[in-house]
Amino acid sequence: PFDVLVVGGGPAGASAAIYAARKGINTGLVADRFGGQVMDTKGIENFISNTYTEGPKLMAEVEAHVNDYDVDVMKTLQAQSLQKKDLYEVELDNGAILKSKSVIISTGARWRNVGVPGEAEYKNKGVAYCPHCDGPLFEGKDVAVIGGGNSGIEAAIDLAGLVKHVTVLEFLPELKADAVLQERVRTLPNVTIITNAQTTEITGDDTVNGITYKDRETDEENHIELAGVFVQIGLVPNTDWLGDTVERNKMGEIVVDNAGKTSLPGVFAAGDCTDTPYKQIIVSMGTGASAALGAFDYMIRN
Ligand code: FAD
Repeated sequence: PFDVLVVGGGPAGASAAIYAARKGINTGLVADRFGGQVMDTKGIENFISNTYTEGPKLMAEVEAHVNDYDVDVMKTLQAQSLQKKDLYEVELDNGAILKSKSVIISTGARWRNVGVPGEAEYKNKGVAYCPHCDGPLFEGKDVAVIGGGNSGIEAAIDLAGLVKHVTVLEFLPELKADAVLQERVRTLPNVTIITNAQTTEITGDDTVNGITYKDRETDEENHIELAGVFVQIGLVPNTDWLGDTVERNKMGEIVVDNAGKTSLPGVFAAGDCTDTPYKQIIVSMGTGASAALGAFDYMIRN
């Protein structure tokens, strides 16, 4: 059996595996797709120490770093359940069962898509999901934010300081964001809010050049010319496979303390699958390190 089994091979899982292996304990890492969301990211400008890098390049370096240690890396395998027996048991989609004294869950998350024509086609070519990451790419340009919940309105406030103009498109008759955010966004001269707006298409040539939406009251179609679309309708954690084994919040995020402890002793979690605020590469790596140190602390006491 492993001392520590890491489930997930994004920045959080890779960092956890390195920190665990450096303690000389028997470490395994199982991942569906090594590299995680970062593999879908083109330019990265906020990974400290590197003014510019690209997702696949960064994760190739991270994988080489993991392979520098005695980590048993198992790729293209999906965890399907976690059970506490004598040891923890993680069942995989190929039927194998991995046993470990402790487990670090780092299965990440995925952005909810709007699912309209143009979204997939223009991903990384004007369609963006992370204002902290891609906001500065649209300096001086017009953009739209799809979604008027907290993340959408936070994005609009953030982007308004960087871009020329922001149009917020909310499907429902009113915004769902907290009142304080709504008050703040309404004070900004370069933000327009359109409610009852159903996005029907993201248009473009080489890159995004506009968005089409239907007014749900009048059924009228409108088109706005712009350079970028931020989709802000939710980040879904990859935690369904856990069922009720660990406590999750209403969004499905695993509830952790500041050492990455979950509700199950010996099970830790890190990165985008947890309720830690601010989903970023550097934050995931940091929480992965904390979870591994937390797991080591658990091991020496049990
Ligand atoms: P993930 O990267 O989501 O990795 C999850 C891992 O778990 C993967 O290996 C996956 O295959 C695996 N997995 C999932 N379910 C299972 C399962 N059941 N069994 C086994 N393995 C499983 N952040 C920045 O800091 N800067 C940026 O510029 C930036 N740009 C971004 C651009 C895009 C398009 C996207 C989508 C995200 C961007 N982010 C950026 C956010 C950043 O990618 C995430 O915060 C980070 O990848 C989270 O790391 P993680 O390890 O927690 O999860």
